[in-house]
Amino acid sequence: MHDFLASGLSCLERARLADELGEARTRGRNLSRLRRLTAPERAALDQRERLAQARLSDHDAEHGCQP
Ligand SMILES: [Zn+2]
Repeated sequence: MHDFLASGLSCLERARLADELGEARTRGRNLSRLRRLTAPERAALDQRERLAQARLSDHDAEHGCQP
């Protein structure tokens, strides 16, 4: 929660979604650095990131709270 406040974002829900997206990206990067991912693993990570991105975009469209 302190990170959200420090970031200056006014919408906590948006901050949460942005955090999820960042987490998905970081996880994919870290995993692929550790070892070679299988195609299904790669696809699952990509999908997770796409979903997080879509939720964030939807929120922006519906809520109009882009920073
Ligand atoms: Zn919002």
